Amino acid sequence: MTYKMIVLMGGQGAGKGTHARRLIDEKGYKYVEAGAILRGLPSTSPVAQIMARGELVPDEDLFKIIGDAIQKVGASDMIVDGFPRTIGQAQWLVKQYSAKYDIHVLYLNLPEEIMLQRIQNRIREGGGRADDANPETVRRRLDNFKKTTMVAIEWLRNVPGIQFSDVDVSEFEFASNYAKVCEALKITPKTVTR
Ligand code: AMP
Repeated sequence: MTYKMIVLMGGQGAGKGTHARRLIDEKGYKYVEAGAILRGLPSTSPVAQIMARGELVPDEDLFKIIGDAIQKVGASDMIVDGFPRTIGQAQWLVKQYSAKYDIHVLYLNLPEEIMLQRIQNRIREGGGRADDANPETVRRRLDNFKKTTMVAIEWLRNVPGIQFSDVDVSEFEFASNYAKVCEALKITPKTVTR
């Protein structure tokens, strides 16, 4: 049996974490969350300083960290969130895992102005992360997404042997966006009605 690897991609405020958590609650997928693993590294590490500036951590670091995390999950359906973010990472993922897993990339697509609104809301509601609070960091993460991660997304869109879905998640209600994600994955949401 080939297990599923659902790869969540999208800019800040796309709802990668929120969708992942709901899918995990409902379907029991294992979770590989790049940002959370990196945030778990010591605050004095070079990686923590790169993150605080809103820059991308070098691919080589990610290969080790994500490779270990995926190996730990092993034979199970899983969600990979926040990886890949560069074309090098995307190529590595496909090369390493497309024969072992059914890879389904979900690009959570939304306009930039809605991304910015959602980050503002996150800060206002007090749930925001340290790297949301600094406008310069937010701008840099958005730039990285547009300049670097979008290139990876466009490459993945046309890779043979993997599935790719472009899902519009710009609705105000989470439930409507989640229903579209489930539709793309061909699964039935438990708690959501349209
Ligand atoms: P996230 O929680 O996914 O928004 O990630 C927080 C920060 O971790 C990012 O702004 C980057 O500095 C770093 N990061 C997370 N995932 C990656 C990745 N795949 N490649 C490079 N840096 C990453």
